[in-house]
Amino acid sequence: MKLFRKNKKRTWLDKTINTLLIIVIFFIVLPQSFELPVRGMKKSDYNQNSYWHYPWGTSGTHKGVDIFGKEGTDIIAPVRGFTFKTGSGGKAGNYVIILGPKLRFHYFAHLKSIHTKVGDWNSIGDKIGTLGATGNAAGKPPHLHYAIVTWIPYFWRIDQEPQGYRKMFFLNPIDYLNECYP
Ligand SMILES: [Zn+2]
Repeated sequence: MKLFRKNKKRTWLDKTINTLLIIVIFFIVLPQSFELPVRGMKKSDYNQNSYWHYPWGTSGTHKGVDIFGKEGTDIIAPVRGFTFKTGSGGKAGNYVIILGPKLRFHYFAHLKSIHTKVGDWNSIGDKIGTLGATGNAAGKPPHLHYAIVTWIPYFWRIDQEPQGYRKMFFLNPIDYLNECYP
């Protein structure tokens, strides 16, 4: 009896099942290990209350955290995951989006330069860009705007704050940053 049929052609169904398995294992089962996204950053480089700060320009509320630092400092992948999108322009300036564990997008904006391309696999700590002041950060102190967005809505996080319903998609990155400090 042959256990493996070596000459079996892989059908589109096999490939789809394999892809789904990879998605389930990497993005849903795998725990989210986390490292700080700006190399050498200190706890005083970000404001504890900057998440959902209101009012906040044309965005209404501030759906992430601003991490201030020296222009050109390495921005590294805080989680493992694929580079999902990169681009430049608008309020973000140069930006990178990584799709990581638990089907969460990690969003990095105002970069000086981008050091990754769509489809790249990033291990934790891989350089993806450098800290800058592009987009609507121009003329302001250089900083990384960092946000964590979930594909799967977390309805229980909705509250009465302005745009509070959107909290089902935007997690508070400060919770994860703080855990990296003793
Ligand atoms: Zn910001």
